[in-house]
Amino acid sequence: MTLMVPSTTPAATTLISPGRQALDSALFQLDQAADRLHLDDGVRTMLATPRRSLTVAVPVRREDGRMDVVQGFRVQHNTTRGPAKGGIRFHPSTDIHEVTALAMWMTWKCALVGIPYGGAKGGVSVDPASLTTRELERVTRRYVNEILPIIGPDKDIPAPDVGTDEQTMAWIMDTYSVSAGYSVPGVVTGKPAALGGSLGRSGATSRGVLIATLKALPGSPEGRTVAVQGFGKVGAPAARRLADAGCRVVAVSDATGAVVDRSGLDIDDLRAWVKETGGVYGYRHADALSHDDLLELDVDVLVPAALEGVITAENAPRIGARLIVEGANGPTTPEADRILADAGTTVIPDILANAGGVIVSYLEWMQNLQACSWSAAEVDAKLRELMENAFDAVTAMSAERGVSLRQAAHLIGVGRVAEAHRLRGLHP
Ligand code: NAD
Repeated sequence: MTLMVPSTTPAATTLISPGRQALDSALFQLDQAADRLHLDDGVRTMLATPRRSLTVAVPVRREDGRMDVVQGFRVQHNTTRGPAKGGIRFHPSTDIHEVTALAMWMTWKCALVGIPYGGAKGGVSVDPASLTTRELERVTRRYVNEILPIIGPDKDIPAPDVGTDEQTMAWIMDTYSVSAGYSVPGVVTGKPAALGGSLGRSGATSRGVLIATLKALPGSPEGRTVAVQGFGKVGAPAARRLADAGCRVVAVSDATGAVVDRSGLDIDDLRAWVKETGGVYGYRHADALSHDDLLELDVDVLVPAALEGVITAENAPRIGARLIVEGANGPTTPEADRILADAGTTVIPDILANAGGVIVSYLEWMQNLQACSWSAAEVDAKLRELMENAFDAVTAMSAERGVSLRQAAHLIGVGRVAEAHRLRGLHP
């Protein structure tokens, strides 16, 4: 049975939203895995269908007294292996399709790295840069009030994603705790350390990206050239860590622009510039580059760490990197996957490459439930162990079944969730 075949022509893709394209990609990947796992139609449909999808209105009082209403979403794709888990995104183009795709990828990711969660995602269709801090706090608290009945430390545990951060998580924890009548740190992860956040959580996704890159690179990282798309919570520390490991980070981009210096960027200086000006645009010690050109640079490693659907059938033939490590979720479309595979380009898929974030979120949640705190070294050792185990399992599956690393990662993730469904049986 085919659940959804992604559009293949440019004319068709312009008619559907980026979120719908992301969901089509996620369903296509599920369909491929289900075929190889010989899942029956009932199980496929179960895995393709979110357990709960909530759309809410989020009214927000602006500083000038006006009231705006934005949409918010929370999708719990699967809860068979444990509570739902996944980030909250604040972005103007977020829609229910995108949030559903991201929730589905979370389900496979948690199963792949062997942590006892299902998958979820949340989103609010708002540009955080257009709001004052007080407006942002009001949006966050009102959104949390609207989704309050379905979240909780045993039900669904949010975390940061695009456009949200530690402060957002602190507001979520406070809103939930005020409603409960007592402090509930385990309702969110990615909190500030002062509120029960784990040491190592803020750099966990980039740490995982580094571990995956070093395992995938043939030979030493010394002098390998890297381009990073996105200079936020994942991309900026990933660039720093890759440079520390000996790589030469030659180009980075963010929403404001892209910059290149073939002799290697000074990442700390660039971060200071971004902090001062709000973006990489105009950075004096590098040349400007177009967003598209950054993706096509002739480098050893490309790390997409921004949004979905940026490597497509259109630009895949021109991608210069031999290794792509997906810091972002869903950056590569299925058509692009095929073109890259034919060209011999290795893609470390999102559900493996960026799993460091949810792994340390899991460690944070465990610490919160046990009311204890672990050292940075303990957290890092556990993160490394889970990442390396998952990486080895994916490469072994890829070799055994003769499939791409993405297909292998899905075979493991989808297979574990299907097995959990089989063992639990169907109620009633
Ligand atoms: P973020 O909001 O901190 O950063 C996003 C970055 O992307 C910003 O620098 C932004 O300017 C940039 N960007 C936006 N549009 C762009 C464009 N067209 N071209 C280039 N850059 C652009 O978000 P984040 O938390 O770093 O998340 C980035 C990606 O990583 C997302 O796909 C997210 O789902 C994924 N991810 C994040 C985490 C986490 O722990 N934060 C974990 C796993 C996966």
